[in-house]
Amino acid sequence: RERAREILESASRRDTNRLGVEAMELLDAYGIPTPRGDVVTTPGDAEAIAEEIGDDVVMKIVSPDILHKSDIGGVEVGVSPEDVRDTFEDLVVRARNYQRDATVLGVQVQEMVDLDSGTETILGMNRDPQFGPLLLFGLGGIFVEVLEDNTVRVAPVSEPEAREMLDDIDSAPLLRGARGREPVDEDALVETVQRLSQLVTDFPAIVELDINPLVATPDGVQAVDLRLTLD
Ligand code: ADP
Ligand code: MG
Repeated sequence: RERAREILESASRRDTNRLGVEAMELLDAYGIPTPRGDVVTTPGDAEAIAEEIGDDVVMKIVSPDILHKSDIGGVEVGVSPEDVRDTFEDLVVRARNYQRDATVLGVQVQEMVDLDSGTETILGMNRDPQFGPLLLFGLGGIFVEVLEDNTVRVAPVSEPEAREMLDDIDSAPLLRGARGREPVDEDALVETVQRLSQLVTDFPAIVELDINPLVATPDGVQAVDLRLTLD
């Protein structure tokens, strides 16, 4: 909680109220699993992180001016170690082409998450003036807008309430292992819903937050992307 407060305080000293993957540590601080990785500002540092990860990586542009990174070519999945330097430059060029004066905080180099064995879900919060923090859970990734399969509860949520949210969505059978797929780790999902519930309850300054995707696999969950707004 102290760590989370520090992260939010240093963010509020910047001239934007929008945070992205550079604030992933906020999730770490609340025990929500995130892939290994870091945000770096030079191609050399990007290479060093990739070496540390020791496999192909995902690279993402980090900018408060770019809300949907993949829309502008700001996400490269499966980058091999020898392509990391060039990809760093490409991502920055694409950001500049999109908006010449965009604030670029750096590039995130992130461990790959196995999407084949996982399901992309979304876990978010919207602070309602009347009801307070509304937690949203649903099917994530590219399906969010198309299927609109989600459910909402007022935070804080109890364990049974969090579990109920998983049951509520139409795609629940997908999480439970439809069509011969291995079921995802439901307890890890429930735990993550509760941890986010705690985070947004502890910090009223967070007015909006989205983890999309939160990848649910048979072995647990991974928060792959983060976006939040402070008041
Ligand atoms: P944005 O939503 O801003 O476009 P994301 O970080 O969500 O950026 O990345 C877009 C998509 O790329 C994700 O929905 C996911 O399908 C894929 N992706 C992102 N990070 C990873 C990762 N670490 N491992 C595997 N796939 C990823
Ligand atoms: Mg995303």
